[in-house]
Amino acid sequence: MSLLDRHRAVLPDWVALYYRDPIELVRGEGRHVWDAGGRRYLDFFGGILTTMTAHALPEVTKAVSEQAARIVHSSTLYLNRPMVELAERIAALSGIPDARVFFTTSGTEANDTALLLATAHRGGNQILAMRNSYHGRSFSAVSLTGNRAWSPTSLSPLQTLYVHGGVRTRGPYAQLTDAGFIAACVADLEDLLGHTRAPAALIAEPIQGVGGFTSPPDGLYAAFREVLNRHGVLWISDEVQTGWGRTGDHFWGWQAHAAAGPPDLLTFAKGIGNGMSIGGVVGPARIMNSLDAHSISTFGGSPVTMAAGLANLTHLLENDLPGNARRVGGLLIERLRAIAGGVPAVREVRGRGLMIGIELVRPGTDEADPEATATVLEAAREGGLLIGRGGGHNTSVLRIAPPLSLTIAEAEEGAGVLEQALRTL
Ligand code: PMP
Repeated sequence: MSLLDRHRAVLPDWVALYYRDPIELVRGEGRHVWDAGGRRYLDFFGGILTTMTAHALPEVTKAVSEQAARIVHSSTLYLNRPMVELAERIAALSGIPDARVFFTTSGTEANDTALLLATAHRGGNQILAMRNSYHGRSFSAVSLTGNRAWSPTSLSPLQTLYVHGGVRTRGPYAQLTDAGFIAACVADLEDLLGHTRAPAALIAEPIQGVGGFTSPPDGLYAAFREVLNRHGVLWISDEVQTGWGRTGDHFWGWQAHAAAGPPDLLTFAKGIGNGMSIGGVVGPARIMNSLDAHSISTFGGSPVTMAAGLANLTHLLENDLPGNARRVGGLLIERLRAIAGGVPAVREVRGRGLMIGIELVRPGTDEADPEATATVLEAAREGGLLIGRGGGHNTSVLRIAPPLSLTIAEAEEGAGVLEQALRTL
């Protein structure tokens, strides 16, 4: 039996694989990966925005193997030096005063923790979320999901209320100017709050990831914050995809809404561990200390993952990879916009830094075209380039999110392959 047949026989159907002939990746180095047949690919998806600096980064490999040789696990019952060190670094980087950090093993669990904290702190189970959002796969995180493709149930321990604003170029306010769009979304939020108990929190991704790299105009969440503050509603920024400088202009996605100051709670995961499972939540002591019972994550903050996170973060900052994401991402998006100009199926090229989305439609319409998206994904792979897909509108968006160390030559090479792939439409 082939590995694909064995996969299908033993895993549930909803664990979807990319490509008609799914590939097994067996090795990575820098921005490249190799499949089991020895074929090399330029990696513009980084295992869903998770290989943040580079594949097989020597510093991370060394930190992991050295820590694994000393002690792999101790639990939160004992002092853990790498965990305290990484918490200190993240607290300082967060911009949140008097910050406390709690480590989990995934983005889902990070958001679950933020929801637990916000609802405990505020005493209520209503949560505001954005349409087209994704925050994870647990029972509570999935109940926030504003994207049908990722929403297997509407059952929930929370009552979720959806507000407008995460998608700039679709929906009832798409035709407005940026200022008009923000004003309409704020009015919608004000109206909603007038009809409900004050919810515990608003949770939002500054740039929606799974939703197809969509975002509001800069400043929307600052305008929301004023309203939320008046009602005592907390703001949770889900930085699972947007954190650590991926968006180039900002270290955190919330900084595109900087007038609001830092969020009440910030959640992170994916890139910080460069593939080791680290998630977490950071917030001020007055909220983080809200739980009145014990709470632990047995694996959260485990020494090997923390050692990886420290080495990865140090490499990111010492090499100014956020600056690289801004520079190389800026060139890449310009190049992709130029290419897209000649492809009628492209509705929009959007994003910032190394978080770039290409939305495809049936030419001349606004209708999503998932088949075209699948065709381009396959053609890119044929050309030696791995990219992702997403989007709330029948997953009709190509997602481009390479490691932040991407070189200009690699950006040009990838853009060339994408040009060929888009031409096949
Ligand atoms: N939040 C966002 C914004 C995400 O993109 C994801 C994962 N795609 C999650 C949360 C959940 O993270 P994980 O898969 O690590 O549980």
